[in-house]
Amino acid sequence: MGKIKKRIRSLFINRPVAYHLAKKLLFLSVFMVSMLYIASSQEQVKLPILLYHNIAPSYPAESEQLHITPECFQEHMTALKTSGFTPISFQEYYDYRVSGASLPDKPIIISFDDGYITNYEYAYPILKELNMKATFFAVTKSSFYPTAFPIPHYDWAMANEMQSSGLIDIESHSYTHPKHTDLTLEKIEQEARLSYYDIQTFLHKEPLVYSYPNGAFSEQTKQIVRKAGYKMQVKVGNDGVNTNDTPLDELVRINIGGLTTSQQLIQMLENYLKP
Ligand SMILES: [Zn+2]
Repeated sequence: MGKIKKRIRSLFINRPVAYHLAKKLLFLSVFMVSMLYIASSQEQVKLPILLYHNIAPSYPAESEQLHITPECFQEHMTALKTSGFTPISFQEYYDYRVSGASLPDKPIIISFDDGYITNYEYAYPILKELNMKATFFAVTKSSFYPTAFPIPHYDWAMANEMQSSGLIDIESHSYTHPKHTDLTLEKIEQEARLSYYDIQTFLHKEPLVYSYPNGAFSEQTKQIVRKAGYKMQVKVGNDGVNTNDTPLDELVRINIGGLTTSQQLIQMLENYLKP
């Protein structure tokens, strides 16, 4: 009798062998089904990252892309909440992407660029009242000279207060806000490393995300910023939402200005989330 025939026969005669084989097959199929389930459930997460700048009770109409009134911002946040969106931190998104940690339904990141004091005066109390997380990207040098700008910036004491609340995460929007693609490699490294050092020193935490001034980046800037220690990088613009295929050093954001109504905001987000 050939070896194979013998083996097949023994499967039927020798019950322990058949039993082990069946056990192996069962284990293998359970494993494959769960892998498929993980893969398919991971594919489903689309992450919008909203980008706001300054909050002001009034502002010139031509700069609506960079401004929003406190009332309108509050309406946006309330609408997100009632539509089932859950604001998350970049750390939570990172853990999901890298280690498969779970995310709440309809996750969203709310972010602010530039470090204006109005983020502290208006956005922070609204977010606190609604218990919503957000990320504020600071130009770290301006936190040492908060009043040296046409619009004042928050200082380190305010940044610390917000970070300690557990709702606001302060991350880097560079050291002095230059357009990175115009800089020498040395200067880019300085911008990334000095702001990293400031956040580490004054907020006692490891920075995680780098937000490019004017959204200007290149392969070289990405490499330098990564080497400086940032695990994620974000752009400016209206490039839709992030999927599991979006590189972590090119995360996209949706710029939100003061002319966007809360209905338009929710409609836009729901359209992005459609399968
Ligand atoms: Zn900026």
